[in-house]
Amino acid sequence: MNNKTHIAIFPSPGVSHLIPFIEFTKRLLLLHNFHITCFILTTTDDYSAPSPAKKAVLNSLPAAIDIIYLPPVSFDDLPKDSNPELKLSLTITHSLSSLQTELNSLLISTNSTPLTAFFADPFGVKALEVARGLNIPTFVFFPTNVAVLSLLFHLPMLDKSFSSRFLRDLPDLIKLPGCAPLHGKDVLEPIQDRQTETYKSFLNTSKEFYLANGIIINSFAGIESEAIKALQANEGMVPIFPVGPIVQIGPTNTNGAEYCLSWLDKQPSRSVLYVSFGSGGTLSSDQMTELAFGLEMSGQKFLWVVRKPDNESANAAYLKDGQSQFEATDVLPKGFLERTKGQGLVMQSWAPQTLVLSHDSTVCHCGWSSTLESMVKGVPLIAWPLFAEQKMNAVMLVDGLEVALRPIEAENGIVGRDEIARVVKVVMDRSCEEGKKVRERMNEFKDAAAKALSHDGSSTRALSDLAFALRSKKSN
Ligand code: UDP
Repeated sequence: MNNKTHIAIFPSPGVSHLIPFIEFTKRLLLLHNFHITCFILTTTDDYSAPSPAKKAVLNSLPAAIDIIYLPPVSFDDLPKDSNPELKLSLTITHSLSSLQTELNSLLISTNSTPLTAFFADPFGVKALEVARGLNIPTFVFFPTNVAVLSLLFHLPMLDKSFSSRFLRDLPDLIKLPGCAPLHGKDVLEPIQDRQTETYKSFLNTSKEFYLANGIIINSFAGIESEAIKALQANEGMVPIFPVGPIVQIGPTNTNGAEYCLSWLDKQPSRSVLYVSFGSGGTLSSDQMTELAFGLEMSGQKFLWVVRKPDNESANAAYLKDGQSQFEATDVLPKGFLERTKGQGLVMQSWAPQTLVLSHDSTVCHCGWSSTLESMVKGVPLIAWPLFAEQKMNAVMLVDGLEVALRPIEAENGIVGRDEIARVVKVVMDRSCEEGKKVRERMNEFKDAAAKALSHDGSSTRALSDLAFALRSKKSN
């Protein structure tokens, strides 16, 4: 039996939560030599049979991280087109009893050190309850930023303060301490409608968070110091550990990497706009047409991760890690691929994003991981939010940090080709003053990010504080 502090992590099924969660544990391992067990949720449904992206993450784990695959959850009785949110929550709830069994055996195991603490992300709050029931100290791994966390703590109060059904109808700006003011329409997507079960569960999330022993957050003082201070000052607040920016080190998926990199190698540094909507974002057919024409009209180089369009949902490819079967020529405007041959490259469904970003490409998206991945490279963004908390990220990036441009939607909810071409030119054309300002700002945050992660940086210290707290739990 080794004598290391042993923690278990329970990432929810989406790869965008898995990546930072795993990277966080790698850092704990590297700097503090912990013993880590990682529970992986599985389903019989092929929607989440490990995608190449997920497999690449799991295959990159150091040997010191043990993986326990929980028995597969079956969706045979669910309609095929059930939304990703429902599948996500069922995967978790149906896995709780096997999680409990596994946790029990880790508690009494004689082969490894008994478990000291259990970590879950915000979708796994029910798993935190299971661990608490076994008297295991619990921690939340919050993969996004303090503004979103602060909103969740603020939600019960906000809920009492207005009567309309949708948050988008809120008459006043929401002013979270230390955060850029927020319109109701920009609040995270899953809680826009107060009559849904999802809203109700989010309303209770902060109660669960108050019961945890700490919250680890993928942000850092250099970008959210006031928000961090304000949150920590809340009465009864549990310790907050801002350990970010934690970004993916290796590629998520090497499929097509060679093809993509050999094309990028031929392009001047910082000349390519990388258009990708995270792990699961999808556009409507009309929006895709406008984007294609906008990119073409901008005249700028681009690398576009094209997904099958979906007119119903902006996250249709979520939990499939972007994968879908289709032919690019069937979903792009006629002649687009031929006309843009020297200008752009189209990849289907997924690209090795960290490798693309190592060429200092500019990202068109604002998922939180992609934001941090851009920040550590010092490259500005085009903030194009689609789902989850992305509109809140866009507000922070555009109004708060001033490191991104957000294209403006027309009345019909579509961003038109002229607007796309305009924003792309501003961000990419190095002679444009407006673009220069966001580039300079982003460079400042690049330095701040490096400082936070340096030997004596705020995030390294937060991680040490967490390690200390965990070690003292072990000796209790
Ligand atoms: N990603 C990737 N290739 C892709 C799309 C996404 O490697 O084609 C990775 C990206 O590097 C990031 C994660 O998937 O680490 C997406 O997370 P993010 O929070 O940016 O977006 P979300 O998936 O939540 O929309």
